[in-house]
This record gives sequence, C-alpha cells and structure tokens, in this order.
Amino acid sequence: METDRAPLRLVHTGTPDANHRRGLDAPSTLSTGPRPIPRNAIERLNSVRLLSLDACGRVLDWMSWQDAACLYARDAVAWTLGEPCLRVHGGTSRLTGEQSVLDLPPIIAARGHARVSALDPTPTLTNAALFARDSYLCLYCGQHFNRPQLTRDHVHPVSKGGRDIWENVVSACFNCNSRKGNRTPQQAHMPLLAVPFRPSWIEHMILSNRNILADQMAFLRAQLPKKSRPIS
Ligand SMILES: [Zn+2]
Repeated sequence: METDRAPLRLVHTGTPDANHRRGLDAPSTLSTGPRPIPRNAIERLNSVRLLSLDACGRVLDWMSWQDAACLYARDAVAWTLGEPCLRVHGGTSRLTGEQSVLDLPPIIAARGHARVSALDPTPTLTNAALFARDSYLCLYCGQHFNRPQLTRDHVHPVSKGGRDIWENVVSACFNCNSRKGNRTPQQAHMPLLAVPFRPSWIEHMILSNRNILADQMAFLRAQLPKKSRPIS
C-alpha cells in the first residue's frame, strides 16, 4: 500500500477491564470516533498496550499500538483475538486518495514460534514491580502506602550475604525498614506477613499494566495456574 509519510494516528480504544482499571476514565469517553480528541485522552490511549503472543498462543509481552501496526505492515500477524479496540489512521494513498485505516485487536499473535528460553522469563526486579507484587503494603506493619513511601527491604540483609532477588525482598515502609535495620526478621522480632516470591511472567504481565482491557485480562487469567496466588 503506497501512502504519504503522514504519521499514524490513534483514534479510539476498547473497554478496560473493570476489575483492573485504576485511574482510567469511563470507556464512553474513550470511544470518540474519528473527531479530534483531547491531549490527555490521547495520552491515556497511548498507555493502552496490546497483548503480544507467538503463533502457538504463548504470551510474550505487552506491545504498543505502533509495534502492532508494524506487525501488520510486515504481514507478520498470524491470528488475533477480540473485537478491534484501537483504530489507527495512516497516510493517504496516492493512487486512491483514501486514508488508510487499521483496526487493532487487543490480542495479536505474530507468525513464528518463541524460543523456549524466551518463555516465562524471570521478571526484572524493580521497585515498581516489587511494590505491585506486595499490593503496596508494608509486609511488616501491614499498612498501605503510596509508592514514594515504600522501600525495598532485603529480608536477609545484603551485608550478611542476602541476595537481591525476588525471594529475598519485600516492600517495607520507611519506619519498619529503619527499625529492622541490619537484622533478619527473627533478630528484629518483626515477623513477615507474607512469604516473598518470584512472580510468574503472566503474574508480572498483569501486575505491570494498569490499563488491561477485558479481553486481555480474561486471556491472561486463563493462563494462570489453578492454584495461583490471587491478583487483585
Ligand atoms: Zn511498615
């Protein structure tokens, strides 16, 4: 398809998962059709991620609508799931004078199969991911805190050989972290409220995206082990 070099433009998005939506406006304000939409709405739309799978349906990662559009341009889409949730307007064809339109579904499987080593990777341990895993609770006092008020506590202190891995870190408020100091929970008489764990890749996908669409959440939940830890 020959088009001019006009940038791709996002027009509307689908329905966020009602149980997972935090800080996203009602869906009705997002389905605005082709008329211009406010800057803050565009920012929200740009925050929507599409679920990327391999041809076997194995979950790879979140991708932007730009990356999804590239898959279509390369004819690399194997199959999709869900009703279109994003409409992208591209350039105008020199031959027909018509503007190209691409409707993107929420779940897109690309051609090819992922290498086994690329599946279920260990999620990168960041403070943002850690606090999300622990539901923004201090695992010593049990109180809820905002992100700036939380710290990464090493259950077995690094200075005593503890490692900086998922299984040895918890979210802790400043007070609890300083009170515990350079001691283990047993030494500090501060028992942990939960055992730290390494999230699976699917759990990490759910925890790391605040704007998951309903179709995507249903697909991801179906991939969770039956005895998986509950994710709110
Ligand atoms: Zn605390």
